[in-house]
Amino acid sequence: MNPVIALVGRPNVGKSTLFNRLTRSRDAIVADYAGLTRDRHYGNGKLGNKPFTVIDTGGISGNEQGIDAAMAEQSLLAIDEADIVFFMVDARAGLTPADEAIANHLRMNQKKTWLVVNKSDGTQEEIATAEFWTMGLGDPVAIAAEHGRNVTQLIEHVLEPY
Ligand code: GDP
Ligand code: MG
Repeated sequence: MNPVIALVGRPNVGKSTLFNRLTRSRDAIVADYAGLTRDRHYGNGKLGNKPFTVIDTGGISGNEQGIDAAMAEQSLLAIDEADIVFFMVDARAGLTPADEAIANHLRMNQKKTWLVVNKSDGTQEEIATAEFWTMGLGDPVAIAAEHGRNVTQLIEHVLEPY
């Protein structure tokens, strides 16, 4: 079985953009507004000779209350199916209450979770990641899904055990 990576996070943080880059497809709809991906969306990628599967999700709307409500059902299912979770946040938007709610859930989860700070283009990595250290999910990794910054390096690191 390929390792499975689930992309979770608020709408608009760049999950579908990363999905498309990792799977070299344009299957996922990328847009400036929230909630386009209603279902889970599967694709395959390859790093060298290592295949992996990626799951895109619609994201979790920050308007809901409580952790169960805040985690959209599709995201919970994707996390269950995954070996690895990329919790994506947005360097430009900064840390939001919805991010904190998702983080609380992921901290209780046993899944290997990477805190991925997207949209770091135009910013130094240390500055892009600074405020996300407080989330208690380990070292934040700065990427720019749209431009490919640090994406291959992240995947190489994540797939090391496989
Ligand atoms: P999703 O809702 O999490 O799937 O987010 P999308 O992939 O649809 O992206 C939302 C918006 O963020 C789109 O306008 C993307 O072009 C933009 N975006 C995605 N990745 C980056 C990035 O690395 N840098 C910048 N500046 N914008 C990005
Ligand atoms: Mg999307």
